[in-house]
Amino acid sequence: MNAPEAVILIRQHLIDPEVCIRCNTCEETCPIDAITHDSRNYVVDADKCNSCGACISPCPTGSIDHWRTMPKTGAYTLEEQLSWDELPQQQEIEAESLAVAAEPGGEPGMGALQVNAAVSPSSITAPWSAAHPYINLYTLKAPITATVAGNFRLTAEDAESDVHHIVLDFGNQFFPILEGQSIGVIPPGTDASGKPHYMRMYSVASPRDGEREGYNNLSLTVKRVVEDHDGKPALGVASNYLCDLQKGDTVSLAGPFGTSYLMPNHANANLLMICTGTGSAPMRAMTERRRRLLKTQAKEQNGKLLLFFGARKSEELPYFGPLRKLPAEFIDMHLAFSRVPDQPRAYVQDKMRHAGQAVSELLDGDTYVYICGLKGMETGVMEALRDICKESGKDWAGLHAKMVAEGRFHVETY
Ligand code: NAP
Repeated sequence: MNAPEAVILIRQHLIDPEVCIRCNTCEETCPIDAITHDSRNYVVDADKCNSCGACISPCPTGSIDHWRTMPKTGAYTLEEQLSWDELPQQQEIEAESLAVAAEPGGEPGMGALQVNAAVSPSSITAPWSAAHPYINLYTLKAPITATVAGNFRLTAEDAESDVHHIVLDFGNQFFPILEGQSIGVIPPGTDASGKPHYMRMYSVASPRDGEREGYNNLSLTVKRVVEDHDGKPALGVASNYLCDLQKGDTVSLAGPFGTSYLMPNHANANLLMICTGTGSAPMRAMTERRRRLLKTQAKEQNGKLLLFFGARKSEELPYFGPLRKLPAEFIDMHLAFSRVPDQPRAYVQDKMRHAGQAVSELLDGDTYVYICGLKGMETGVMEALRDICKESGKDWAGLHAKMVAEGRFHVETY
């Protein structure tokens, strides 16, 4: 009898199209460009992927972490993956093939994942004292239904942008969420090709004990998208759906998501928060958490809060009104406006430089940094931090790496 022909097996990396929120994080993270996408799916090229694992932790949903044992010659092609609405089941592999693949000296990539040594600019570990986050309790296939308790426009009526504060109530269903976590919104209906819409992620803007303290509800900050990245008219599916919701409507949601962008739970930890536009959502949640803690915790245990918040004009700043009422001894707040007539443009990084001493002093302490908002601001903010540290004789590169490793430096930009 002939010996079975040698079959090389690989552990093929796949992305779950039902859970993926198309945020592009995996494609940006992959050090060897093995991940690509079309207008619908994110896919992994089996010929390129070396299972380095660099893309696994940054993925906010866990859709990235799927693997199938496949014969190398029969791995799913990019075309096949692009056509999927859901992941295929693991195929049965014939016992002879497995035996051959397990032979010493065999080539297949069946080993454990190796973690890429490259340092991510953002922590993938949570602060050491963060509360335990629940994740993936509800999915695209098994969502939770929330009821709209309120939906109001945050930006002035004559402001260019239409930003909404939307409160969702969970009744007596279990939906625990922490500041900094996100939820997936599943818009009803189908896209132009007749497929169900994929879910979109939004950070919660309320603290863990509810938008209204003690209530099982949360809030979102949503800007109505009316144009695409090139400025051409285009209506965002989820944002328009959310902004048009009426009180009493129901919404399908997945989540919670997020295991690292969490706030420290221990006393005296300082927060340095930098955000633009609707990136203010997690900052509002964290600030409100700290404000509520003042009722039960000595003021001096609350740690310092330093906020840099950028918007086009004061009329376009979500939460401008309520934020302005917070006392200066509770939060040191710096607002940057970029489009006020007859005023020079100011960005958050400019305000950080102006307040360089306060930033530098905070970086010397037990401080946790949170950045959220436009992708474009990341570079400017990093340069400002570098320059502020340089001026005060600190090594930013070393401090940054230390903060990342200690779960003290968190970035969420899109
Ligand atoms: P936006 O109104 O377009 O911009 C906010 C401010 O940022 C403006 O003053 C803008 O100035 C300024 N800005 C632009 N480029 C900058 C740069 N390179 N450095 C510093 N500041 C810069 O913001 P938005 O539309 O609300 O967008 C916020 C972002 O946050 C979105 O990408 C959104 O996806 C993301 N986000 C949202 C949530 C959520 O839960 N809703 C959560 C996380 C992240 P200009 O006058 O120059 O435009």
